[in-house]
Amino acid sequence: MLDIQNLRVSHGPIEAVHGISLQVGAGQCVVLLGPNGAGKTSTISAICGVAQATGVIRLEGDDLTRVSVEDRIQRGIAVSPEGRRIFSNLSVEANLRIGGGIRANKGAVQDDIDRWFETFPILGERRNQPGGTLSGGEQQMLAIARALMSKPKILLLDEPSLGLAPRIVAQVFELIAQLRADGMTILLVEQNARQALRISDYAYLLNNGQVQAEGTNETLGGSENMMANLTGLG
Ligand code: ATP
Repeated sequence: MLDIQNLRVSHGPIEAVHGISLQVGAGQCVVLLGPNGAGKTSTISAICGVAQATGVIRLEGDDLTRVSVEDRIQRGIAVSPEGRRIFSNLSVEANLRIGGGIRANKGAVQDDIDRWFETFPILGERRNQPGGTLSGGEQQMLAIARALMSKPKILLLDEPSLGLAPRIVAQVFELIAQLRADGMTILLVEQNARQALRISDYAYLLNNGQVQAEGTNETLGGSENMMANLTGLG
């Protein structure tokens, strides 16, 4: 589904990612692990087209490398960004409607909004309330739902558990596991290594802008060396 070869990402003169390759198969949940500054968010930004990058990014064989941000969304990439970035002055419902903005069938968009309100009744109860008045966990659910409103082929999730209480973190992981079970293709960035590995098919450990290790939950989790690294990440 997503195939990245030799990706280099720069922020002005600073190269943050030094030629990584990674793949996400259709229906897989793949996790990018790594300490702060490893280059995880830079990788996500490059896939979305908002960071300066070289290398090749293909979605279902389609070369996206020189495609605009808008066209990448049209072709099926959606992101729930780090820090959630919901529109705090707009209502919960308006946030979801913006997520579905690229779809022509507005009736189907409304149906999906109503379905999300059934899935998360708390969002339904607060549909007319400004998004900024939601709790952190509610905002995270809204950010994920908003991303899914575009009916993407792949969902990019950048640190969805960041700053949330353990009980809420568990709910976020439950939602991701459910999305995966429903067949969604997911690239997840996480610092909660153990929980992320548990719901993932494959993992890449980034360090200093390079892939330091990769494998499945079993192969990575089974390596003592790796677990020492992962323990440091939570
Ligand atoms: P975190 O978990 O802290 O977000 P990360 O693995 O996502 O870490 P990045 O945010 O991709 O890492 O950062 C990788 C490197 O790029 C870091 O050295 C960071 O300081 C640098 N960097 C990231 N964004 C910018 C920017 N906009 N301008 C300059 N340097 C940046």
